[in-house]
Amino acid sequence: MDEKLKQLDGEVMRLCEPIFKEIEAVADRNRERVLDAFIENRVGAAMFAGSTGYGYGDSGRDALDRLFADIVLAEDALCRAQLLSGTHALTVALFGVLRPNDTLVSAMAEPYDTLKGVIGGEGVGSLAEFGVGYKECPLRDGRCDLNGLFELAKTASAVLVQRSRGYAERQALTVEDIGEICAFIKGANPRAVIIVDNCYGEFVEEREPLSVGADLIVGSLIKNAGGAVAPCGGYIAGKANLVELCANRMTAPGTGRELGCVLSGLRELYEGLYFAPSVVEQALKTAVYAACLFERLSLAVSPRYGEKRGDIVTAITIGDEKRLIDFCGAIQQNSPVDSFAAPEPWDMPGYDCKVIMAAGGFTNGSSIELSCDAPLRAPYTAYLQGGVHLTYSKRALLAAAKVVIK
Ligand SMILES: *Cc1c(COP(=O)(O)O)cnc(C)c1O
Repeated sequence: MDEKLKQLDGEVMRLCEPIFKEIEAVADRNRERVLDAFIENRVGAAMFAGSTGYGYGDSGRDALDRLFADIVLAEDALCRAQLLSGTHALTVALFGVLRPNDTLVSAMAEPYDTLKGVIGGEGVGSLAEFGVGYKECPLRDGRCDLNGLFELAKTASAVLVQRSRGYAERQALTVEDIGEICAFIKGANPRAVIIVDNCYGEFVEEREPLSVGADLIVGSLIKNAGGAVAPCGGYIAGKANLVELCANRMTAPGTGRELGCVLSGLRELYEGLYFAPSVVEQALKTAVYAACLFERLSLAVSPRYGEKRGDIVTAITIGDEKRLIDFCGAIQQNSPVDSFAAPEPWDMPGYDCKVIMAAGGFTNGSSIELSCDAPLRAPYTAYLQGGVHLTYSKRALLAAAKVVIK
C-alpha cells in the first residue's frame, strides 16, 4: 500500500472506531437471538438431508420456516430455495395477498426497478393485468409523505413499504421510520396489509419491521439473511394467515407449503442464517469505512459515515462515466472470484438503462458479498454493498480510492 493510502486508512479507521463498537453490540444481540432460535427449534443434522418428488413431509424444509419465523419474531414464515430471489418472493407476496379490484399503494414512491414490471408490466401477467390498481405516494423532501400516505392508505388493500433505497435518491428507512409509517397506515385503514420490502435491511438493527407494525416482511437470501452462504432463496414472514395465502401462491392453491422438494442445499440455508448477523456486521463496517474514506476524498456519499443506517448500502457519487467504470473495475479486480474480469455496462433484465456490476463473489449475483452496481446515468452514482470481512473489503476500497485520487 502506498504511503498516502496507508495514512488515509489510519485516519479512517480512527474515525470509524466508535461506530464499529455500536455495530458489534447490535450484532452480538442478533447472534444471541439466532442461536437461541437454533437451540429452541432443536435443529439437527438430519434436517439437512433434503427430499425428492413432491417433498411431502420434508422436516428440514419445514423446520427452517419455523426457525426463520422465530428469529424475526413472526407468527409464521416461508424461508425457501423455492423462492427464487427477492423479486420472486415479493411477487409471491403481492399476488398472494391482492385480489382483482384491490389497490396496491407504494409508500416510498417508485419501487425497486424489477418490481415495476410485476406491478404494471404489459403482456407479462402483471398485477395490473389481473385487475389490481396501483397508486404511488411521492416522496416529500426525500422522505415518506406521511399525510399524503394517510389519504392514499384509506382505499388501499395493501401498502408496499420499501426499506432500502434501490437506485432512488433517498435514505434507507430505519426500523423506527417504518414504525411511524405503519402507524399512519393503520390509523387511516386498519385493514390495509403492510408489506415491507426488507431487502438489505435484515440484522442491521436488533428489531425487524414486524416488531413495529408490518404485517409481512420479504427479502432475498443472496443478500443479508443468507449470510453469504445460502446459494439462492428468499423469504416471506409475518402474520400466519397472510403467509398461508403466500404459500398457496408459491406452489399451487390448495397444496401450498406442503409441496416442494429440496433436492439439496438445506444445510447452506441453515448455516447462512447462523452466519447472517456476523456477515451483516462486516458489511456494515465495510459500508461505514467506505463512506468515511470517500467522504475524506471529497465525494458525496449517502448515508454519511456517522449517520444512522437502515441498510447496508452506500451510494457514492463518482460524477463521471469513465471513472465510474474504473471504480467498479477496481472492486472487481480485488474480489476472490473472477478478479481477472472487467465489468461492462449491460442491459440487465428489469432495468431501464444500462447497469454496470462488480460482483466477484462465490454466488452468482450475491450482493451480501462485496459488490458495486451502478446505472449508467448522471450523476454516476455507485451503490456499494456487502463484504464478508472488512479486511477483504478494505483492499478493494483502497484500490477504488486510487481511481478517485487519479
Ligand atoms: C435486491 C432488491 C430487490 C430484488 O431482489 P433480487 O433478489 O435481486 O430479485 C427488491 N427490492 C430491493 C429494495 C432490493 O434491494
